[in-house]
Amino acid sequence: MTDNRYDVIIIGTGAGGATLAYHLAPSGKRILILERGDYVPREKANWDPQLVNVDAHYNAKESWLDKDGKDLHPHTNYYVGGNTKFYGAALFRLRKEDFGELRHHGGISPAWPISYDDLEPYYTQAENLYQVHGNRGEDPTEPSASSPYPWPAVSHEPRIQQLSDDFGRSGLKPFHVPLGVMLDEKNPHKSRCIRCNTCDGFACLVGAKSDAQVVCVDEAIKHSNVTLLTNSLVKRLETDSPGREVKSVVVERNGVLETYSADVVVVSCGAINSAALLLRSANDKHPRGLANSSDIVGRHYMGHTNSVMMAISKCPNPTIFQKTLGVNDFYFGSKDFEYPMGHISFVGKLDAITLKAGAPAIAPNFTLELMAKHSLDFWLTSEDLPDPNNRVTIGREGKIVLTYTPNNLEAHERLQAKLKQAMKQTNCAMHGHECHQGLFGRNLYVGQRIPLAGVAHQNGTIRFGHDPKTSVLDPNCKAHDLDNLYVVDGSFFPSSAAVNPALTIMANALRVGDHLMKRLGVSETTYDRNRQRELAVTR
Ligand SMILES: Cc1cc2nc3c(=O)[nH]c(=O)nc-3n(C[C@H](O)[C@H](O)[C@H](O)COP(=O)(O)OP(=O)(O)OC[C@H]3O[C@@H](n4cnc5c(N)ncnc54)[C@H](O)[C@@H]3O)c2cc1C
Ligand code: SF4
Repeated sequence: MTDNRYDVIIIGTGAGGATLAYHLAPSGKRILILERGDYVPREKANWDPQLVNVDAHYNAKESWLDKDGKDLHPHTNYYVGGNTKFYGAALFRLRKEDFGELRHHGGISPAWPISYDDLEPYYTQAENLYQVHGNRGEDPTEPSASSPYPWPAVSHEPRIQQLSDDFGRSGLKPFHVPLGVMLDEKNPHKSRCIRCNTCDGFACLVGAKSDAQVVCVDEAIKHSNVTLLTNSLVKRLETDSPGREVKSVVVERNGVLETYSADVVVVSCGAINSAALLLRSANDKHPRGLANSSDIVGRHYMGHTNSVMMAISKCPNPTIFQKTLGVNDFYFGSKDFEYPMGHISFVGKLDAITLKAGAPAIAPNFTLELMAKHSLDFWLTSEDLPDPNNRVTIGREGKIVLTYTPNNLEAHERLQAKLKQAMKQTNCAMHGHECHQGLFGRNLYVGQRIPLAGVAHQNGTIRFGHDPKTSVLDPNCKAHDLDNLYVVDGSFFPSSAAVNPALTIMANALRVGDHLMKRLGVSETTYDRNRQRELAVTR
């Protein structure tokens, strides 16, 4: 008979769950990790733009509903490592000011219950763990950090360096985007990463992206006290009769229902699925859903306002790895617009196959193929504000319903205008200002699929805070209503800021991990001894 009792159960292996599992593994506690997906198969298809970007080969094979009851095909991924298997690995800290209240054109971005200084040591740990490559001091909005990046920034290729120089001459402060790729430019013959053109949106065929599977799950399961069960979909959480503790975790595995239990249960299914799991776990003591006495579970869904803008030039852009440059000069506003606008960086280099699916307006005298060869493909992110009516609910046949009305759009339009203006100031040696032919938005809607950005940066649905009436989790990410339930994915964000979320999810998981270690009575000596033992075995 299997012993189904553990010290800790972690549900989900994305940025939050896997990082926590890695951190707790040397504790010696019995840890069970439950993941609904399998490993991403290693196959040539990993790097095939047609299969990945057009056929959505690796996306979840399920449909959700929008607020009108129409089917949505979410661009999300159920695998060991979660969405980090496919992410662009741009690993940013939130700005110090993002932790306080900020006034936006569209309303207020609320304060977090912890400060930047509380999270700073964990950001440093997360950057080391995920091998972030970057240069401190270039980004004008960057918060102070207690140590340099563990690796030097990924260099710009010539076309991107030229753009960086142009932007610099026009008064902007472009910087190198912090990236979690295992690239060693000084020793290319030894470098695990080969700097290819299929990174952002693709799984790494050679295991050189710092994703949550490679960096955390693979390491955590080397400890004999850690068990990973894949293809294990958690259906619901059941409580004891007073409703104060999660008593059992009900899992569908190989078509059979199984039950597991633990002293501590950590939900980390991604902001949409975690909210759905709590809502589906309603019972007599929690009639509106587990941990939902506040009626906040599922509300305040945020996902950023994103757009892809292609700047077409007469000069070609032969860049292979494009995601190296960022601009944050407009993050908090400008002289002519006093509100935050957001962040400008790049997506992976677009090709004609991918463009066909996204159908941008065609630049005059260009074909799609020519556009792809000449475009600089920018990624713009603006903050969306937490609106209680933007929410996850459960609809017909138990399907997830995602209700979302975009807000704070003026900020995004202003950001697009700033990019247009900056591009007009670029001055190519061969064609002068005439080199730049204009900006074209790439349409991210493919068929009935919601925009990639719609769920890629999902957060906010189980927010943390001090007040049990206005938040679901306390500042340690424990549910106010239950004694042994925690959430460590992107759900806890009270505001979305305007940089990519993954590093903050990872850093917070490490912070919650320290809290759990105290709760479980793990001594530092035991932890260090187990870690050393594991390192010795690995060497
Ligand atoms: C194409 C793409 C590019 C991106 N680029 C970046 C980037 O450059 N930088 C950045 O910071 N962020 C990026 N992101 C976002 C980033 O990947 C997410 O913010 C991050 O992965 C979220 O971590 P999470 O732990 O909240 O959830 P996830 O990573 O989504 O993990 C959730 C896990 O839970 C599992 N699960 C769900 N439901 C259940 C259940 N009921 N039972 C068991 N298991 C379950 C899922 O299979 C999954 O493994 C990108 C995302 C995408 C899709
Ligand atoms: S080899 Fe490097 S650039 Fe290519 S997918 Fe892997 S991590 Fe990304």
